[in-house]
Amino acid sequence: MARYTDSVCKLCRREGEKLYLKGARCFSPKCAFEKRGFAPGQHGKSHQGRAERESDYARQLRAKQRARRVYGIMERQFRRYFGVALRQRGVTGTNLLQTLELRMDNVVFRMGLAENRSQARQLVNHGHFKVNGRRADIPSMILQPGDVINVSESSKNLTFFKELPDLAEKRPCAVWMDRDLKGLSGRVLRLPERAEIDGSLNEQLIVEYYSR
Ligand code: SF4
Repeated sequence: MARYTDSVCKLCRREGEKLYLKGARCFSPKCAFEKRGFAPGQHGKSHQGRAERESDYARQLRAKQRARRVYGIMERQFRRYFGVALRQRGVTGTNLLQTLELRMDNVVFRMGLAENRSQARQLVNHGHFKVNGRRADIPSMILQPGDVINVSESSKNLTFFKELPDLAEKRPCAVWMDRDLKGLSGRVLRLPERAEIDGSLNEQLIVEYYSR
């Protein structure tokens, strides 16, 4: 499965804002965007502060790229999610965001069991989780309301998971889920509502981008 392997901090600099892709480091002075808040590349600095009028297409593209980068998804899969959202009942943009939120790696992150989505994806890939009692090692798996997710018994003996409850205590859990940190488990209670998903994402522009 293809995935982005370059520095994720470049993505924040490319978008011109912090995307909080790393966790604690994003809130520290070590954040690359705090130190170099201009676009990466040879000409990144020369464009800094220049008032440029963005075309509609540029705004739509940036909104789509931003969402892709926040969730760490490659273009082809993101387009596939849009196709699924389009065929579902309801508002396409909201359907898309709900699908992204219900990805297995995002659910692990939203439960507070990982510092960022990238770490969550690695934990899932390494087979540390079960969904409804069955091994679930595919980060793109889409969960449903009622699904129960827990750390497998063999993984609970690892130092990482022994220390996790104390660490995760300080991280928030999404309101559409509940979690039991002592038991290292959680449940998807319902679909997330739009107001409970990252407000900086502009799904309308994403829909416009793919509807051109
Ligand atoms: Fe973005 Fe976090 Fe890197 Fe800062 S530390 S540039 S917020 S990923």
